[in-house]
Order: sequence, then C-alpha cells, then structure tokens
Amino acid sequence: MTLTSSAMPTPSPVSLQLARRMSRMKTSAVREILKVAERPDILSFAGGLPAPELFPVEAIAQAHAEVFAKEGPAAMQYSTTEGYGPLREWICGHLAQRGLPATLEQVIITAGSQQGIDLVAKVMLDPGDVVVVENPSYLAALQNFDGYEARIEVVGSDDEGMRVDELAELAARFPLKLIYIVPNFQNPKGTTLSLARRHALVRFAQRHGVLILEDNPYGELRFRGEALPSLASLDDSGVVVQLGTFSKTLAPGLRIGWAVGSREMMRALTVVKQSTDLHTATLAQRATARLLKQFDYDRHVTRLCAVYGERCQTMLDALEAHMPEGTRWTHPDGGMFLWAELPRGMRGEDILPRAIEQKVAFVPGNPFFAAHPRSECIRLNFSNRPPELIEEGMQRLASVLAAQ
Ligand code: PMP
Repeated sequence: MTLTSSAMPTPSPVSLQLARRMSRMKTSAVREILKVAERPDILSFAGGLPAPELFPVEAIAQAHAEVFAKEGPAAMQYSTTEGYGPLREWICGHLAQRGLPATLEQVIITAGSQQGIDLVAKVMLDPGDVVVVENPSYLAALQNFDGYEARIEVVGSDDEGMRVDELAELAARFPLKLIYIVPNFQNPKGTTLSLARRHALVRFAQRHGVLILEDNPYGELRFRGEALPSLASLDDSGVVVQLGTFSKTLAPGLRIGWAVGSREMMRALTVVKQSTDLHTATLAQRATARLLKQFDYDRHVTRLCAVYGERCQTMLDALEAHMPEGTRWTHPDGGMFLWAELPRGMRGEDILPRAIEQKVAFVPGNPFFAAHPRSECIRLNFSNRPPELIEEGMQRLASVLAAQ
C-alpha cells in the first residue's frame, strides 16, 4: 500500500510505501456512515458511549486540583512504566474483593484496556500465529490482531457466550497462541460466559498451553443476576491475563486501565510498554488514585448499574412492543449493548442509510465477525440515552423495518 502525500505545498506529491500490515487494516464503509450518525439531530445507538451525565466530573476535577496543589512537580514528571504505586495498590484491593488476590508486581497500569490488548498482542504474536476469538467479537481487538499479522480463527457463540467446546477441533488443526474473550456482557452481543464454560475454558488453556486474554471492561456493570468468577480467578498457572479499565465506571477520557497476570507476563508487558509510551500519563494516574481515596466508587458503580439496568429494560420493552415479527435480540445482564437479529432477508448495512433518514442509527453487525458475517445482525447501545429517547429511537427503528 502506498500513501501519496501532498499536505505540504510541494511541487509534486511524494509516494510513500507503507508497512505491509496496513493493507490488512481496512477502514470500513460503516465507519463512514457512522460519522453521519454523530450528527446532533440523529438519535444514535451506534457508539459504545457511557452516559455522559453520570461522569463524576466534579470529583475528577477536584482530584486533579488537589494533585496540582499538593504534588504538582511529581505529577508533571516522567514516571515508572508499571504505573503509580498507590493506584496499583487500590487495584490490588479491588481485585482481592472480587476473588482475585494479586501482588503489586502482578498489576500494571495501561492507557485503557485497549492498550492492554495491544501490549499482550505485541508480546505474544508473531505473523501467522493463531488467535482465537468468538464470532462476533470486539472490533478493535480484531483490528489490533490484524495489525500484528496474526491469523484469526473463530469459534461460535450463543446465549452462554463463547462455544468453548469448539476449541478442541481448532487445536487439532493449528497450534493456538492466544484466546481473546470478553466474558462479561460482551461487545457486541451483551452475552455472558456461563460458569461451566469458564471452568472448561481455563482447563483447556492450561492443558494446551494457550494464553487467555480476558478483557473485562464491563464486568462491574452488572444490573441483573449473580457475579460469576473471573477466568483469572479460576487459574492458578499463569495462563490468564485479565484487563480492567476505569473507562466504563469513571470516564473513558481518563485513559486509565490495568492488566493483571503472572509476574513474568507483567515484566514482558512492561518491556513493550516502555517502548510504546514510556508510561501512562502521570497526572491522570495520580488524580485517579486521589479520586478513589476520597470518592465512594462502589456507590457510584451501584448507581451506574441502576441507570443502565433501567435503560436496558426500556430498550427490551420497546423492542418487544414495536419490532416486527421475526426480530430477535439478546437479554444482557449488564454492560452497554444488546444484539438484535433482523427479520429474514433484512441486512443491517442496507437498513442503516434508511434509518439515518429517519434520524436513528445503530451499528450493522458485519464488521464484528472475523469470519462468516451475518448481515442481519445489528448492535444497539443502551447506556448513552435516557429512557424516553430509547423508546422514541426504537419506535423510529421499528417503523424503518416495517417499511421494508
Ligand atoms: N475492550 C472492549 C470489549 C471494549 O468494548 C472497549 C471499549 N469500547 C475496550 C476494550 C477499550 O476500552 P478502554 O481502552 O477505554 O478501556
């Protein structure tokens, strides 16, 4: 792939030869349509956005002000790659409460869980190495693995999450390197991996010597049912790296997440993080640590769960009331998304332009599939709009479908 660059006033544009990996990193047509979906007049359920009115803006501002007042020069300085000690200590305490005791050396701070995905991929994947994902899976993880020229193989998924029973067949065909999974309230489907499958997955990884990348950005946002043990908490042999983030509980703009795993793996991640960004922003780390000391995080998360639970229920009720026969959808116990299958013959990508004409938007399901795309699927976000707009949006969407 080449890039013709004429941004500067040069007399003739220069052609630059880009890295081979760039030809694998496609921009999707959907992304272009979704730019339109960001127009303020469109009721969009497309983005993966938390509710902005619930960001604890004042508490975050106060924490930053205190950092400037009390530890200004240190917060402006370079810092360690592993991350700010007191923040890592808080995360250790938080994980211990969730059945995952970890020492300080087992936790590093990352720029969101997205960076955790990238660092693990960089540590683990040579070109052609096999990464297993459930189908469909988180788009930006697929793009990341593509960037490392990995071979992405898929297993199916149903209402209990990843079809762990399909892994053995893949393992018979390829040496597997990495299994990427979002076990709680998956993006895009909203489904949760069952307890039996959690045990089976960890056993499989231990037996085959495969690393599980447990991406858990939504685990805190459970509004129904009982929390299930994490994959990391079921493993005692270092085959799981778990990623966490404050993006969905505090604010994504902070760009603070973490990785937890074996000491050896954290050392490897630290080496690659050093060459990637030296360390996560010192100011944001210190402000987050201060915030967590003086702010009732658990109460805040309980409130988020209540609001998202109500919004999810509103969307489920509205789908039930308005969608044409033949439409089916998932029933998440938490998180921010649900996944709908449109009636036979309808394609999300064909419906989207018509939906935008009616000022409502969603993400067509196709790009989430690493193989065998199912065009009748769409992803709907329920966290970003209040109930009355969710009801209005689902009515608009239903009328677009009814007109087909
Ligand atoms: N993993 C999944 C499954 C996600 O949905 C997201 C956010 N869209 C991320 C990782 C990245 O989140 P962040 O980097 O903000 O923590």
